[in-house]
Amino acid sequence: MSNNFHDYFMCDNCTNTTFKRVYTFSLRFHKVNFSEKLLYDKVIDETYQCTKCNKTFTREQIEEGLTELKKKRER
Ligand SMILES: [Zn+2]
Repeated sequence: MSNNFHDYFMCDNCTNTTFKRVYTFSLRFHKVNFSEKLLYDKVIDETYQCTKCNKTFTREQIEEGLTELKKKRER
């Protein structure tokens, strides 16, 4: 007999398990030494929003949450 577990990352605010992706788009400017020229990087940040209470989580927070789930199972 096989034992399969499926643990979901849960919103710590409302215990919901579904999230949607939210993006922000920005330009990060920086000056180059000895030049008046501005360089920029395009930055796309991705966060995850709880579909129930709208609390947002970063990718790192989700990863940490999943690591915690793994630790709980291994105990
Ligand atoms: Zn929530």
